[in-house]
Amino acid sequence: MVLVTACFLMVCCAPKKINQEEQQIEKLLAQMTIDDKIGQTALRGTSSRVKGALSEEFKQAVRDGQVGSVLNVMNVEYVKELQGIAVEESRLGIPLIFARDVIHGFKTIFPIPIGLAASWDEQTAYDCARVSALEASSQGIRWTFAPMLDIARDSRWGRVAESPGEDPYLASILAKAYIRGFQGDSLSDPRSMAACAKHFLAYGAAIGGRDYNSAVIHNAEMQNIYLPPFKAAIDAGAATIMSSFNDVNGVPATGNKFILRDILRDQLGFNGFVVSDWNSVTEMIPHGFAANEKEAGKLSAMAGLDMEMTSAAYQNHLKQLIETGEVSMDVLDDMVRNILRVKIQLGLFKAPYIPDNHPGQMYAEESMKAAYDAAVNSFVLLKNDNNLLPLKAEQKILLTGPLADAPHDQLGTWTFDGDKARTVTVKDAFEQNASTQFINGLEYSRDNSKKQFQATVAKAKKSDVIVFVGGEEAILSGEAHSRADIRLPGVQEELLYELSQTGKPIVLVIMAGRPINISAVLPFVDAVMMAWHPGTLGGPALYDVLTGSREPGGRLPITWPKSAGQLPIYYNQKNTGRPADKESFVHMDDIPVGAWQSSLGNKSHYLDAGFLPAFPFGYGLTYTSFDYSNLLLSDTTMNDAGNIKMNVTLTNTGSRKGTEIVQLYLQDQTASLTRPVKELKDYQKVTLLANESRVIEFNIKASQLTFYNNDNKKVLEPGVFNVFVGGNSLHVLSDSFCFE
Ligand code: BGC
Repeated sequence: MVLVTACFLMVCCAPKKINQEEQQIEKLLAQMTIDDKIGQTALRGTSSRVKGALSEEFKQAVRDGQVGSVLNVMNVEYVKELQGIAVEESRLGIPLIFARDVIHGFKTIFPIPIGLAASWDEQTAYDCARVSALEASSQGIRWTFAPMLDIARDSRWGRVAESPGEDPYLASILAKAYIRGFQGDSLSDPRSMAACAKHFLAYGAAIGGRDYNSAVIHNAEMQNIYLPPFKAAIDAGAATIMSSFNDVNGVPATGNKFILRDILRDQLGFNGFVVSDWNSVTEMIPHGFAANEKEAGKLSAMAGLDMEMTSAAYQNHLKQLIETGEVSMDVLDDMVRNILRVKIQLGLFKAPYIPDNHPGQMYAEESMKAAYDAAVNSFVLLKNDNNLLPLKAEQKILLTGPLADAPHDQLGTWTFDGDKARTVTVKDAFEQNASTQFINGLEYSRDNSKKQFQATVAKAKKSDVIVFVGGEEAILSGEAHSRADIRLPGVQEELLYELSQTGKPIVLVIMAGRPINISAVLPFVDAVMMAWHPGTLGGPALYDVLTGSREPGGRLPITWPKSAGQLPIYYNQKNTGRPADKESFVHMDDIPVGAWQSSLGNKSHYLDAGFLPAFPFGYGLTYTSFDYSNLLLSDTTMNDAGNIKMNVTLTNTGSRKGTEIVQLYLQDQTASLTRPVKELKDYQKVTLLANESRVIEFNIKASQLTFYNNDNKKVLEPGVFNVFVGGNSLHVLSDSFCFE
């Protein structure tokens, strides 16, 4: 076994470079009283969420240096006023940071993050973050609580909508792009925002997909699955990290020294500040980890939590904890250093106000174009029998379904500032098509009333094709919105069934914050397009994709289950000791020959749901078709210093130009820990004309063969590695090589 790094605890010992920034911090620190220091650790809300002026009490707290940062200030005038008080009237003039959840757009709303992840496209994630930063910073908001980088393997969890999906590699690519987009070329640019990678750690591993629930994960799982996107974000310069609500292996993340110091600071080398989640410091009391507010404050400070969001354990108790020696002044000083460092990097000491020349244009043409492109890139075509899509010009269309004209719900979760009056719905977009008739069919996704069924069916009979836009309202996903049953809510299945009885072909467009169990309707719909919640310009994007002037650009960033009973389900699972035999596999699932060989399935399955999901990770059809052939490895063995080139021929076998996402997976056949049946290691977006062929080359490097073991050590073990390449995680060509 080759040890790639020494024990991670040793990585922290590099001497700290005392630069100008650090000198400024030390100078300030020397002037601060203990109360000033504690003030910097407070992230507070104001009363300005409701109408009316800022309270005198809050303004005085800012003047007295008791507030370090402020969240959710809805009014730019209040931002200016509070910053003025902090900078001009407080003793030390330390500027405030204004924070907000700018998650997938500020005014111009992009697809929800799981949709952005479906684009598998750095530029798309970057554009969303850049436009968000340009718009929000013009209102003085220089800190966003994004990106959320929680790996999500259970679609019952409501925050799947905000997640980058189930794969650590894809999530890491997106993480870097988000950080670059939010933080711009330099944090000190007034058009940038400090990013906050959240929620640290393993929030997405909530047992049963129930929000806030415990996460139980061994170290290797933490290192190999949940940490990589955070590492990528930190390497890209993420300024802040948010600790999560959940407990990890019994210790709440907010009071978890192993996670916040050993992993985050010592292993990952993070030097920004860590903020708690909303009240997550005092939530350690009901968690049963802290006896009272004082102990919660002590545990958080000792664990490495720099800033407290909304609760006031630091404010109420830190002074006493320091006076009694329960927390040392060194600990508080380090917390304050981390916070001041980010304030300096944001340029707030030099330029605390919004500059007059900030462009600050909301819904700018280029921003809207980026949101439109992002939506096109996020759509995943799951089924397209008889090439029903794209729709043909001569077809009479019935547009129906509860989300066809839903300006609010189309925007998705976490859109505080996006104006629904700017949403262009699918109905709005189809109005340009004279042969479209429209009827809602259902008022909203959970509607149980069948009163419009008859009228809808009557209109369907007069049309050539039915486009049903259904799914989930925005409120059915997001924080605290987990679902036990992830089927189409209300009576959507019934309406789809009634419509199918007309004999007209049906296109099911799904807008939802998670994969939906569509097993009951899949047999009688002809095409299925997953549109997530596509944002402000989701309507025109869908129109153009459904009618074929654009191609659906997305691939699933999360496995699509057949039923909630299969959850959690993910492609990078482990094999059991009971491999599936070909016969039982084929018997249980109607799957293509060869799929069983790639060992996705094993005897760990359900009698009534088989081995396979409805659609695998990485899956998505295009309006053309692709064939893979001639997988060739440049060598049969590889050593530490070497690499192996892998070639595969990709051919566009259809009749129009199209883009394929060529995916490379590896499997470590035998190791000192059981390893996943496949892991995504690389991918390329390739556009080919009809009948065009191209040899696609990947370079497999030794660094892609490493993994962390349960001692938090990164290792590279000799043995056989399987290589898989294909257009999704299931339908692949394979070969293997040895690492010596
Ligand atoms: C969420 C965070 C969010 C914070 C501030 C919490 O409830 O978990 O993701 O950033 O609220 O709004």
